[in-house]
Amino acid sequence: MSETDLLRAEFPLLAANPGLHYLDSAATAQIHRCALDAVVRHETGCRANVLRGSHRLAEAADRAYDAARTSVARFLNVASADEVVFCSGATAALNLVAHAFGATLRPGDRVLVSQAEHHSNFVPWQMLRERAGIALDLLPVTASGELDLAALPRLLSPRTRLVAVTQCSNVSGAWTDVAAVVEEAHKVGARVLLDGAQAVQHGPQDLRALGIDFYAFSGHKAFGPNGIGVLWARGDLLAGLPPFLGGGGMIDEVAIEASSWAEPPRRFEAGTPPIAQAVGLAAALEWMGGLDWPRLREREERLCADLIDGLLAVPGLRLLGPPASARRAPIVSFDIAGLHPHDVCQVLDHHGLALRGGHHCAQPLLAAFGVDACSRASLALYNDEADVAALVEGVAAAVRTLA
Ligand code: PMP
Repeated sequence: MSETDLLRAEFPLLAANPGLHYLDSAATAQIHRCALDAVVRHETGCRANVLRGSHRLAEAADRAYDAARTSVARFLNVASADEVVFCSGATAALNLVAHAFGATLRPGDRVLVSQAEHHSNFVPWQMLRERAGIALDLLPVTASGELDLAALPRLLSPRTRLVAVTQCSNVSGAWTDVAAVVEEAHKVGARVLLDGAQAVQHGPQDLRALGIDFYAFSGHKAFGPNGIGVLWARGDLLAGLPPFLGGGGMIDEVAIEASSWAEPPRRFEAGTPPIAQAVGLAAALEWMGGLDWPRLREREERLCADLIDGLLAVPGLRLLGPPASARRAPIVSFDIAGLHPHDVCQVLDHHGLALRGGHHCAQPLLAAFGVDACSRASLALYNDEADVAALVEGVAAAVRTLA
């Protein structure tokens, strides 16, 4: 068995579907068996609510939930588990920042986002603009969909309070030069929020080295369960933010006249959190932490280059993203002249190829590419040469069928 076959066997859905070429991990990665097992173990062994329970089950649930926070902190290499806020996903994390940090902004303050953002890191800032009278600035992209960092200095001002950009585009696959963004943003005193949704399935992160202020990701893109995500923020920053949602668990004291807030992270986790999902995510992240990432990344890069080479040989196909030689993730979007991506993806589905066609919740970026929709193949650590070959063949067949 090859290394990829062995890896694939660890993913129940892939193991049960040997003929499937799953090329949609940018939308959701398959769940690793250890995450599923951890959820089942938790739900059958210590299901109870967290916080202040005095029976044994409740104490076990508290310990498991706290341990999950520690696993996330380790995966992100951050200073303290208390900087890790659990929420339902990257979208919830980004909206939390838009509300909690947004509440500290004044009319005329500025937030800068890029044109490569997923709607989750775009729309909440438009909503904040309506709510708070802030100004929204747009960092353009280059012809290949990379952030145009040359434009950054002139778009920043002393009124810029936040630069919110993706770490890796879910359409073009381009990685952001985070160090360059942080350097420029911090020069004017702006905070940096990084949308890590597409980054986490390609290995553990070192947020301390990145020097950013906020980070958001979803568990389902990191081989973990659905319904769980993380917001990380620097401890001092988090301590100064007001809560977003009110309810149980986030208070210090509630009186008839007024209430006071718990310390972070609980201040930002109103209500019963996704406990078993946090435990499942922690299992997935611990598993990822034990893998040989330099080797896996080298393989992902090689497969991505082969895929791009193969696709570019298809007549009428245009790559929407940087070339294989660029710093890019194995997310390969393409347009085929005269063919609608929905039709292309439907034909591919008949060949056992699961990929996505549409606007990928990134309409501003698609507008920059001059298309309404495109097809996207995304590779993860369980994909191999056979997936790439099947896709290249499938796309050529789709062109023959639909042209
Ligand atoms: N940001 C990026 C770059 C994404 O790709 C996604 C998911 N497609 C999100 C944010 C939102 O993630 P979720 O839907 O899990 O909240």
